[in-house]
Amino acid sequence: MSKLEIHQIPVLNDNYVYLFRESDSGKVGVVDPAVTEPVLEKLAELGWKLTHIINTHHHGDHTGGNLALKEKTGCTIVGAKKDAARIPGIDIGLEDGDIFEFGSETARVFEVPGHTVGHIAYWFENSDALFCGDTLFALGCGRLFEGTPQQMWHSLEKFRALPDSTRVYCAHEYTEANGRFALSVEPDNAALKERFAEIVELRKRKKPTVPSTLGEEKATNPFLRADQPSLAAELHLSAHDPVEVFAETRRRKDSF
Ligand code: ZN
Ligand code: FE
Repeated sequence: MSKLEIHQIPVLNDNYVYLFRESDSGKVGVVDPAVTEPVLEKLAELGWKLTHIINTHHHGDHTGGNLALKEKTGCTIVGAKKDAARIPGIDIGLEDGDIFEFGSETARVFEVPGHTVGHIAYWFENSDALFCGDTLFALGCGRLFEGTPQQMWHSLEKFRALPDSTRVYCAHEYTEANGRFALSVEPDNAALKERFAEIVELRKRKKPTVPSTLGEEKATNPFLRADQPSLAAELHLSAHDPVEVFAETRRRKDSF
């Protein structure tokens, strides 16, 4: 099995769209095409033919290019079955635990409610790639527009169970602002301090900080660390349920 060849396309203010190809079958997928033209340009540059749009959730900055790309390429649109009514042009609906076959590669589908109720993520195990949309960000997580802290924490726990080597292909470049917040709730986390310094350097040079790895996130992202006694203590929530620690962390971030 050959691994996916993955390209990152920065679009709009801070979105990342991902274009990937599985070489045995020649299948080409685009994850969360916010827009149309930059995707078509990248396809032309690579000489690739789009076969699939792969959506994580219904927001316009993830599905804005769906219908035009489908019209221009005849591709198939894949998304959450539970949110089919809100995913423009959806052809195939996926549920938690589904295996999405993509040539010789397969993705496990996770339902990860919280940011939206119908949010899903795709884990291509052989390629060590997680397309997590707006659920997990480098040093952050998505805002809870539709779900509860409990739902989001359980969604993030699904990601925590994946290998440290997994690359986190999230949908936004929010890392530097996330890092400033993370330091406010974990000021003594040495790994976080070191990582934040690297992030500041990368952003000075306008370089992407995404993808990160799950190993880095587990060590430095407060939203994956709600069961860490040190974080709970910092929030004056020692011995409280991780859901409460997560909820308080999210609340603080919302007004940071
Ligand atoms: Zn979103
Ligand atoms: Fe988004």
